[in-house]
Amino acid sequence: MSKPLDHFHFKDGFLSAEGVSLVEVADATGTPVYVYSAQAFLEPLRKLGAGLRGVDHRVCFAVKSNSNLSILRMLAAEGAGMDIVSGGELFRAERAGVPGDRIVFSGVGKTPGEIAAALSYDEGRGIFSFNVESLPELELINAVALELGKSARIALRFNPDVNAKTHPYISTGLKKNKFGMDRREILSIAAQVDENPSHYRGISIHGVGVHIGSQLLSLAPLQDAFTRLRELLGEIERKAPSIQLEFVDLGGGLGISYAGEKAPSIEKYCALIRKIFDPKKAKRPLKLLIEPGRLISGNSGVLLSEVLFRKSRPAKDFLIIDAAMNDLARPALYGSHHEIIAVEKKKNQGTKKKADVVGPVCETGDCFGENRGLGAKIEAGDLVAILSSGAYGFTMSSNYNSRPRPPEVLIQNGSFEIIRERESYDDLIRGETTGKMKG
Ligand SMILES: *Cc1c(COP(=O)(O)O)cnc(C)c1O
Repeated sequence: MSKPLDHFHFKDGFLSAEGVSLVEVADATGTPVYVYSAQAFLEPLRKLGAGLRGVDHRVCFAVKSNSNLSILRMLAAEGAGMDIVSGGELFRAERAGVPGDRIVFSGVGKTPGEIAAALSYDEGRGIFSFNVESLPELELINAVALELGKSARIALRFNPDVNAKTHPYISTGLKKNKFGMDRREILSIAAQVDENPSHYRGISIHGVGVHIGSQLLSLAPLQDAFTRLRELLGEIERKAPSIQLEFVDLGGGLGISYAGEKAPSIEKYCALIRKIFDPKKAKRPLKLLIEPGRLISGNSGVLLSEVLFRKSRPAKDFLIIDAAMNDLARPALYGSHHEIIAVEKKKNQGTKKKADVVGPVCETGDCFGENRGLGAKIEAGDLVAILSSGAYGFTMSSNYNSRPRPPEVLIQNGSFEIIRERESYDDLIRGETTGKMKG
């Protein structure tokens, strides 16, 4: 199970990663700044590889959780594929040098332009799979592929109607969600494709996928979803004999610990997958894809910030820091919990005082933590680390309040590298017209 301080430790009195002090990073870049540990990304990836050893599989990292090019390059060099959800993420994958046969394209609203780009990816070889979420989408992909004289590899996304028991915004596997298709819909599409090969010359169905939600803290809903998926495979083959399924995509969603929650271990997750999709018991061994995001990136980064003021009140204090909801949106968006600690170890010790940790943005929602028992010695000028910020951190950041987005730093092999520069004020207005009004 991945925990906030697995890869960030106190060394010589200061929070560090891979032996590098975060104070040194902040001195070089200023604050706020995202700081990642390379080892923290690679460890879960390697554990997944070990857990699925001997099974034909591919780990497709969910790019939307952390899409920095250096991170994508590092993961691709370790053999990872990518789960993308937009043309922009496809562009990033290309810049990171990810081969097309390792890319799956998810999402409910792919546009003709995005579909064409994915079909032409990797010098025209295309991508491994379009994970299709509706019949109209299938028709569109078919039409775009025919126009380009190509054939699109397709997986149908199954919505197994299981309750992932996670935050409603990140639950995707219920009937009422916009994601995927139910069993009847999938069987009817499979039959339709089977019966009309000449119409569907632009596509070939090779897989079925599920993804029931994010930050799952129990394997039970995954077990339900995987079991229903396995049953569906047999039904598809009976209903649509011309469809030769070669892979299943089991999605992502495995949760991590942000605040002491118990999350399933990678070992148990892999054991569940092996049990349900045991290649020895299958008629034909299927390749297994998984699409973890948060599991790999979540506890691999922190957001470093400096305390601007301690505003003392009788009931509690406010620590006003230089990071804000535009830099890390999760607390404001989902009410999610991130542990916050002082970078200097001794500031976390001794008397505690209740405090709200807030940013400078003009919204009450700009709050990283309420009623935290934090060291009373933390004061203006001190560095704090907002932990578990590697997933859905920088990627969800914005320029709200015209705040330039923070830089990103990767610690690797005992040193650090700025892998994305801090934005400038000029970046803020790029593309805006400053000239005279026309007409
Ligand atoms: C977001 C997403 C993922 C990754 O989810 P995590 O909770 O970060 O593992 C995987 N697959 C699909 C289709 C997604 O939309």
